[in-house]
Amino acid sequence: MAERSLALALVTAGAPLQPIEREVPTPATDEVLLRIHACGVCRTDLHIVDGDLALPQLPRVPGHEVVGTVIGLGAGVRRFRLGDRIGVPWLGATCQVCRYCRSRRENLCDAPQFTGYTRDGGYAQHAVARADYCYPLPAGIDDAHAAPLLCAGLIGYRALRMAGDAARIGLYGFGAAAHLVAQVAIAQGREIFAFTRPQDDTGQAFARSLGCAWAGGSDSPPPAALDAALIFAPVGALLPAALAATAKGGIVVCAGIHMTDIPSFPYRLLWGERIVRSVANLTREDGDEFFALVQRHPPRASVEVFPLREANAALAAIRTGRVNGAAVLDCR
Ligand SMILES: [Zn+2]
Ligand SMILES: [Zn+2]
Repeated sequence: MAERSLALALVTAGAPLQPIEREVPTPATDEVLLRIHACGVCRTDLHIVDGDLALPQLPRVPGHEVVGTVIGLGAGVRRFRLGDRIGVPWLGATCQVCRYCRSRRENLCDAPQFTGYTRDGGYAQHAVARADYCYPLPAGIDDAHAAPLLCAGLIGYRALRMAGDAARIGLYGFGAAAHLVAQVAIAQGREIFAFTRPQDDTGQAFARSLGCAWAGGSDSPPPAALDAALIFAPVGALLPAALAATAKGGIVVCAGIHMTDIPSFPYRLLWGERIVRSVANLTREDGDEFFALVQRHPPRASVEVFPLREANAALAAIRTGRVNGAAVLDCR
């Protein structure tokens, strides 16, 4: 009989994830089979489970911050060997023929596949992934601390790149992505201003402990005008607030995949050549750059580990903002 494998899956829309037993999947020609060690829990997973994004085909196993060991190889895979420890990110595959793929913007691909959304992801003991979209992981970082790098770290890094050479950066929503971006940006010599939910003293103390120059509620103005603001919280009302805190010529980057509606705001907040833009997904180039940077200045992820079977509790902790840093599932 084929070996069985545990996964936590979205089976019914609107219901909690359920444990399911599957056969261990077989990798296709261009895929690797992983024995998963750890998988990060991203806010995007919550948007998928809550139905904020179009529902995937069900059942679906979420999770796109997957760390595991290669235990099976498709015949065409040259990038990895059996026994390699690798990471699987959100960008699961791209078409390579659309105009975005052909212009180094595969993050905008017209026919993409996403790990844990259009393909089964890492809330599981095993997964298959397209080898060309996976990354070798630095040896010095353990599984639980490596997992959040694969989305929070990577998407955070892409958002930070959009800030250009901004010296003063505001981070709105100080969760998994922001706490990693803050460390990278501070290592680059920038000043970081952390905006949390109002009265979140624990979150603000956490931000200061990582070297942020200032931390306060998202309803308070920073002590100096920002050159850039990165919004990680899925709250549309933060956009006018961030614009109001940003200097002329500055940029506000929306880094999440979903946001509540943005309230109308006076044009003067945008006037002065301020820019508003979003960041969507990632390219493999972003990943290569980010992991090269991580080798030199490894950001220290702050993680709270939950057993795989407790995935619903991990999602609930993200929903209420109870996690300082990132939530990670132990899938061993
Ligand atoms: Zn494409
Ligand atoms: Zn994510």
